[in-house]
Amino acid sequence: MSYFMTKMTERQNGVDDLTLMSSISVENIVTQLKHRLDKNKIYTAVGDVIIAVNPYRSLPIYGEKHVRKYQTAKLSDSSPHIYALAERAYRGMKEMGPQAVVISGESGAGKTESAKLLLHYVSSVSGSSSVSANMKQIILQSNPLLESFGNAKTLRNNNSSRFGKYLELQFNGAGEPVGGVTSNFLLEKSRVTYAGRGERSFHVFYGLLAGGWPELLSQCQLGRAEDYAYLSQGTTYVDGMDDAKDFQEVLQAFNTIGVPMEQQWYLFTVLGGILHLGNARLTGRDAPAQLERGGEYSLEMAAYLFGVAPADLLKAITHKTVAMGGRRASVVNIPQNADQASQIRDALAKEMYSRIFDVIVAQLNSVMYTRDAQFGKTIGILDIYGFEIFKENGFEQLCINYVNEQLQQIFISLTIRGEQELYRQEGLPWREIKYFDNKTVVELIEGRNPPGIFRVLDDTCRSLHAVDSDTADTKFIEKLSMSAVASHPHLRILSSTSAFTAGFTIKHYAGDVTYSVKDMAFKNMDNLFHSLVNCMKTSTNPFVRNLWAREEEQAHRQPSTSSTKIRTSCGQLVQTLMRCQPHYIRCIKPNEQKAPMKIEEKRVLHQVRYLGLLESVRVAKAGYSYKATFDLFVQRFYSLCPGLQVGGVDGCRQLIAAVLKKHSEIAKSEFVFGHTRIFISSPETIFMLEEFREQQ
Ligand code: ATP
Ligand code: MG
Repeated sequence: MSYFMTKMTERQNGVDDLTLMSSISVENIVTQLKHRLDKNKIYTAVGDVIIAVNPYRSLPIYGEKHVRKYQTAKLSDSSPHIYALAERAYRGMKEMGPQAVVISGESGAGKTESAKLLLHYVSSVSGSSSVSANMKQIILQSNPLLESFGNAKTLRNNNSSRFGKYLELQFNGAGEPVGGVTSNFLLEKSRVTYAGRGERSFHVFYGLLAGGWPELLSQCQLGRAEDYAYLSQGTTYVDGMDDAKDFQEVLQAFNTIGVPMEQQWYLFTVLGGILHLGNARLTGRDAPAQLERGGEYSLEMAAYLFGVAPADLLKAITHKTVAMGGRRASVVNIPQNADQASQIRDALAKEMYSRIFDVIVAQLNSVMYTRDAQFGKTIGILDIYGFEIFKENGFEQLCINYVNEQLQQIFISLTIRGEQELYRQEGLPWREIKYFDNKTVVELIEGRNPPGIFRVLDDTCRSLHAVDSDTADTKFIEKLSMSAVASHPHLRILSSTSAFTAGFTIKHYAGDVTYSVKDMAFKNMDNLFHSLVNCMKTSTNPFVRNLWAREEEQAHRQPSTSSTKIRTSCGQLVQTLMRCQPHYIRCIKPNEQKAPMKIEEKRVLHQVRYLGLLESVRVAKAGYSYKATFDLFVQRFYSLCPGLQVGGVDGCRQLIAAVLKKHSEIAKSEFVFGHTRIFISSPETIFMLEEFREQQ
């Protein structure tokens, strides 16, 4: 195509791959994305990375017909599409080793929808034996189940994932899905008891009330969502959502994964108990707090549904039981005032819910995980909540944004830094491309030496005994101000003697976020009061008793803090991802109003910037589209050089000489030899080689 023609297409339709842009700038990337969206093209490539712009409208680009197109297409022919990436991952899994698809982007950008499209693709191209058909059913139905318990309406997204999820699909030698494992991260459990204006709690509560069986609702004495303190703070309704219908899908999923009816019943009654518990309002400046008038009924219902005595439940909520150490360990009961007791009541609701969530994931894994899969034949899909900046940000946002920093770090180390280092190691001529390496921010949050924010917080929590939450928070900010990271260029501390106004700002890769320290120490400790644990362990309801049974085993260990848990699970995730061949989907949220096919340039510009797309384009453009060790290259293409006897660099040279002799359309300069690998410049050349190979 002539230069002039390329320019014309670029202006009218945008380019399929941003490395083909004539001038490289963030502004031009946005223009390209806009041109493409105007033509209903929501996917754009940057080398192997796929950018997906949320169209906020259903487009006729999915479904069986399109799956077939990508399944049979030579990868060279296919325009950028999530199916093309799915096909690459699927072929990669079959021909090589474990694959991982990392989906990132802010809240509402389309990560969860992308994850579902990937699953549908893999499910429709892979095998049809009865084992895999059954497994596909389970895997596909696990989505509505987990979404119901783990997603909620927020201001940014009506179906916002409030937990992170890594689903690893397991395949057999024939490439059929035979199992899977779901790992969940950090459920936003504070949503059980609090939702801001225009937001809701988890979908399942509304589903239960709108679509539960009449006998269940009557046993639980449940009414409308508006009747419950936990459900009525924000909104109770979501445009275009049918809670009752979605609830039926949950029931169907429970049946598919084989959760017995009796257990389903228990589970939903506990959800009902949580709602009643929220209505047991407490009053009184003095300790112990009293139930507000009318609160007895709610407390009794909660106690009945949890299988404990109402008086025991009230005592557990209005008294803090603290274990005193020493040789003769004893406990003291400290009466709590209304504020403190409400906090304990809410802690119970949140903990009960998050334990139910874990039980569901465990149950799902017990039917999904298989030992019969072939080693290394896996495709992982990571759908984790996006970077969050609210007006007020707390411990939850810090954890979420920390995980996002880690993911950005993997992206950078594998695509930008990794590529450049490889070229250097291989001795190829290379001009450094500058990029912002967010490693320093990751260190600021989780670092060991000097101790990062999480460690300073843990340190504060360890040295606290029986102080109230606000004092703990101000102690934390004091400690942070005196710590070694206080002068970190990405941190600014807002000191104050009040926990309400003290905080700190972190300069994240995706923008500056100011965190309030209010409740941080409390949320980090996350240790439940002995009073609650002891009460729940006496439950006559076997489901509830089981939820709390593991407490016994943990009683003697040092309780782990929330930040330690998130650090550990994030570390494990990073290790898993590093073992896989990665594929990236970078989702972009085009506007704030959820308006179809509309790009707000400023917002998109910001995302393009922080996602590092410009740097990705530069590296992909200046770099090589294919690289492989000499041996791997020979193994794959030996058929193009009849009589080839050797591998390694000599085999590689002979093979390339044979190709160049036979195909004069390929330029010699396309091939570059490193110390241990062969590099090929343009994707067209590699596509041609693949074609010649298939024709042999
Ligand atoms: P969060 O971080 O809040 O979980 P998310 O990135 O997972 O956000 P999604 O829930 O996937 O966002 O997408 C938000 C909404 O955008 C969807 O409910 C859907 O209406 C729309 N959407 C996303 N992707 C597509 C698509 N490919 N086609 C049509 N609509 C889409
Ligand atoms: Mg999501």
